[in-house]
Amino acid sequence: MAVAEIIVDVPTMQTNRPFEYMIPDTLSDVVVPGMRVEVPFGRGKRKIQGFVMKVKDQSDFQGKLKPISRVIDLKPVLSTEMLDLSSWLADRTYSFQISCLQTMLPSVMRAKYKQFVIPVVADDPEVMNLLQGKPTFEITNQIDDETVKLINRLRKDEKVDIQYVVENQAVQVKRQAVTTDLNVIQLHEAKSQLRANAKSQIKLLEFLADNLNDLPVEFNVLEKDYGISRAAIKTAEKNKLVKVVEVTKLRKPVGITPEKTTKLALTDEQQVAVDQITESIENQTPQTFLIEGVTGSGKTEVYLQTIEKALQQDKTALMLVPEISLTPQMVNRVVGRFGDQVAVLHSGLSNGERYDEWTRIENHDVKVVVGARSAVFAPLNHIGLIIIDEEHEASYKQDDNPRYHARDVALWRAQVNKCPVVLGSATPSLESRARAEKGVYKLIRMKKRINNQVLPHVHIVDMRDAENSAVKGDFSPALKAGLEKTLADHNQAIVLLNRRGYSSFMMCRECGFVLKCPNCDVSLTYHKDLGKMKCHYCGHEEPVPKICPNCHSTKIGFYGTGTQNIEQQLNDLFPEARVLRMDVDTTRRKGAHAKILKQFGQHKADILLGTQMIAKGLDFPDVTLVGVINADTTLSLADFRASERTFQLLTQVSGRAGRAEKTGHVIIQTFNPDHYAIKDAAKQDYETFFKQEMYLRHQSNYTPYYFTTLISVANQDEGKTLKQSYWLKKQLQTALSKDAILLGPSPTMISRKQNKYYYQIIVKYKHEPQLHQRLLEILNETQADAKNGFTIAIDNEPQHID
Ligand code: ADP
Ligand code: ZN
Ligand code: ZN
Repeated sequence: MAVAEIIVDVPTMQTNRPFEYMIPDTLSDVVVPGMRVEVPFGRGKRKIQGFVMKVKDQSDFQGKLKPISRVIDLKPVLSTEMLDLSSWLADRTYSFQISCLQTMLPSVMRAKYKQFVIPVVADDPEVMNLLQGKPTFEITNQIDDETVKLINRLRKDEKVDIQYVVENQAVQVKRQAVTTDLNVIQLHEAKSQLRANAKSQIKLLEFLADNLNDLPVEFNVLEKDYGISRAAIKTAEKNKLVKVVEVTKLRKPVGITPEKTTKLALTDEQQVAVDQITESIENQTPQTFLIEGVTGSGKTEVYLQTIEKALQQDKTALMLVPEISLTPQMVNRVVGRFGDQVAVLHSGLSNGERYDEWTRIENHDVKVVVGARSAVFAPLNHIGLIIIDEEHEASYKQDDNPRYHARDVALWRAQVNKCPVVLGSATPSLESRARAEKGVYKLIRMKKRINNQVLPHVHIVDMRDAENSAVKGDFSPALKAGLEKTLADHNQAIVLLNRRGYSSFMMCRECGFVLKCPNCDVSLTYHKDLGKMKCHYCGHEEPVPKICPNCHSTKIGFYGTGTQNIEQQLNDLFPEARVLRMDVDTTRRKGAHAKILKQFGQHKADILLGTQMIAKGLDFPDVTLVGVINADTTLSLADFRASERTFQLLTQVSGRAGRAEKTGHVIIQTFNPDHYAIKDAAKQDYETFFKQEMYLRHQSNYTPYYFTTLISVANQDEGKTLKQSYWLKKQLQTALSKDAILLGPSPTMISRKQNKYYYQIIVKYKHEPQLHQRLLEILNETQADAKNGFTIAIDNEPQHID
């Protein structure tokens, strides 16, 4: 008898223990690890889903095993490497294995989809018999085990393949797309002749004019992302403005149009880095390298040439970047070098597109994967190298279950694949740099900029000075003069508004009343463009009050500076300057980031104004000035990483200036000119910052001297939340030695979100052998509380404490 060990999906009754089921004879040979199946559960007739973890000959179970009802997948969707990873991940992140398994799959496979058998060898008699003259065969719940077996055999013989298709997106080997023979001028002319109410057609012609190089574009994209109706496309076709064609290949996501590049001759520092990493690739040693390289030292070329070494060894390579939409230049460089061999996984892809990329990886059609956090689960085989660029970024940690850090997962996979990991940054996380200090990671320093380009000259402006505090707006005389000179020289400037925890709110100037969200403990944000007050946590919105709800005065003011406000000030100060604004509002649309950056790169604007999202990875030769409006906002965060985050942000953004032949200048406005995070960032002096910050972390018992675990409890009832928190604290106390530090329970910075109260407990410790087990037990014990509206989250090494 064959038996399968299965991790089942039973909400509110999760467990990491697999259940055993019998594999019926009709499905023998079909059921293999990594496949999803449907099984009966409990006493009733309930059927649930599960992942097959293991297949074995017999069971130690005394009673009678229930049989598997049916297979959901006709081929395994996860490799054994991934199954093993899920066990480790569940344990490490205090989450349930089922959620880890699901996290590894593209969402198409979790949502509603259909499965089809696609012929590979079309003239095979069995295949022809199965298809019955149709192009595909749909796999439904109803097909019998005989057919399942047949399909399984045909698949193993590579005569057919299985494809998943999102429901409501019918299987289409060919897709309809639009292209045009007209040029930009003709398109604009045609547009001007349309009636003003032909909105959809106008949009279509505008889109085509803007994206002539990326045609043809699929109907789907036009419809979903740009709201252009099919009717409009048909009308335009009738009027001979556009042509409808059929495409088989997916078009590349908007904005990614890289030029082919070739290897650069390496500098000495680059050569040293490439040699060391190559040795590890060739010897298959899972060594972790930390490249600490100043901005502009050419880390990317090191990545590219080591990836090439891995490919030469017949291996694959995985490269993680913080957020693809924010780093299109990096993606372009990888695609530019390796072309079709690259799959790009990013959040801008539709579910279908994401699945297509995933399939290309799984079928070994690509050798290099570039993607954000979740790409660390890419189904690559024989990985020869893993790279994590900007390794210090907080976005590598998932905020939700399972709360994993991509770096930890990468290190795990490196052990299994016997390959090196390269962590790169100009401002490594303290954790990584400390590990390099201890020799756990190998440190590679790149101290020089390419072409010995000098680091930008940094000027710290003390906003407490009389001259500066007298200014009406947000621009000091120094920053104003700097911008004037940049514009006069026809260079470009980047202006950063450090915006975290900083927004424009409404306050009554008579009584001091601040308009707050009725559901959350935060003030509402003023949105000038919408004429509304909005909550950034729950989305609540209401009209802008004309009179104070408290004292009925009309003296209502708006405080705090938003990007729109700074944009206005820039327009007033420099009426001729072309300003591009990049923030959450201007980048909501798919491809909007890439478009803004492209425009700026083509020097179609003089000033790029933005929030944190403009600080990273941009490499524009004409940028000679970087201005930071308010360096202090991140410093005031109630988080022990506040200094580190400030240092990283300022160093990164300063590094955007003077990257090519021209010398760069940076002007930092601050109320804390003597703070070490600001002074060290001005000198791009990571090592000095590292020493100072390590000293302070040591003094206050924080990471990397102590491990940290954060446990948070939430409930609609504040009293119940507190009671549960104290119960938890007591549970923890029994498992901890006197050396551990237990803080809280205390309300989080925003203690009420979406009508739930949040309390947290922080455990700081060095060596607590019982803690891990106790936390796993707590996870299990508190599950029943979820029914009563309790949310309990255990965060191992949290990235934010608020
Ligand atoms: P980093 O990521 O370290 O900030 P980049 O990788 O963006 O730096 O490199 C900075 C610039 O130097 C880029 O424009 C890149 O094309 C160029 N560059 C890198 N290596 C070389 C080299 N060996 N020779 C010439 N130019 C180089
Ligand atoms: Zn008032
Ligand atoms: Zn709210």
